[in-house]
Amino acid sequence: MALHVTKERREFIQYSTLGILGLVLAGGAVSAPYLKADEKHLRPPGAVEEDRFLALCIKCGQCLQVCPYHSIELADFAKGYGMGTPYIDARKRGCYLCGAVPCVLACPTGALDHHTEKPEDVKMGIAVLEFPKTCLAVTRTNVPKSQIQRIYGHPHTRKLEEQVLEKLSLFEDKPCTICADMCPLPNPLSAIEMIVTPMGITRPQIKSGCVGCGVCEELCPASSPAIVVKPRMTYEAYYKEGVKS
Ligand code: SF4
Ligand code: SF4
Ligand code: SF4
Repeated sequence: MALHVTKERREFIQYSTLGILGLVLAGGAVSAPYLKADEKHLRPPGAVEEDRFLALCIKCGQCLQVCPYHSIELADFAKGYGMGTPYIDARKRGCYLCGAVPCVLACPTGALDHHTEKPEDVKMGIAVLEFPKTCLAVTRTNVPKSQIQRIYGHPHTRKLEEQVLEKLSLFEDKPCTICADMCPLPNPLSAIEMIVTPMGITRPQIKSGCVGCGVCEELCPASSPAIVVKPRMTYEAYYKEGVKS
């Protein structure tokens, strides 16, 4: 009898423990989206404010289907929240700011605002020279072939993508000005230019025209990008009155 009771008790504890563990895991899975909700995604051009975007986006994937650069992906469960919504991983592929902004035209719900009609209207975020010590211009290191080849590993099945790679290959073994020279805005000088500081250091400087497309982050040949995009950040908020530059 005592043996039977002990066995039942052991089983009860075993199943209770599993149950609690299950609840903890399930709780984690359910709460993960909320835990990650503060993490900002780089959204496609024209994306309205995040809460409205999540409400309006029907996850139809039209925007990524018309993107000629494979820039847009759909968030999976690992991204934590907004599963199925489109985002851009700048290090994998930035947005090349197509003239007619086809992703916006394709969006059937207004999650991508149709007032975004040209590259200069885009406001995805802002580029920041976050890690100047790794910037090849700052360290006076020529662009290594291996880092150009890293970008050859990205999807390039279309003519436009091939053209990016052709242009990029011209920088091999040369001083790096890639972020400034490959910026896809029609007037890239409004967004970024290489400057020489009073200390004689050459480096990129971000300007108010930057729209946060992420191309400079994708193509930066430092082993981890010296220049990164802050999603949904504005120039005014980040570079307040020249405090940062
Ligand atoms: S086209 Fe619009 S609604 Fe469809 S996935 Fe893209 S952003 Fe969402
Ligand atoms: S692309 Fe990267 S390494 Fe080259 S100048 Fe710009 S920030 Fe520096
Ligand atoms: S500076 Fe970088 S993020 Fe800004 S518009 Fe040019 S390539 Fe895009």
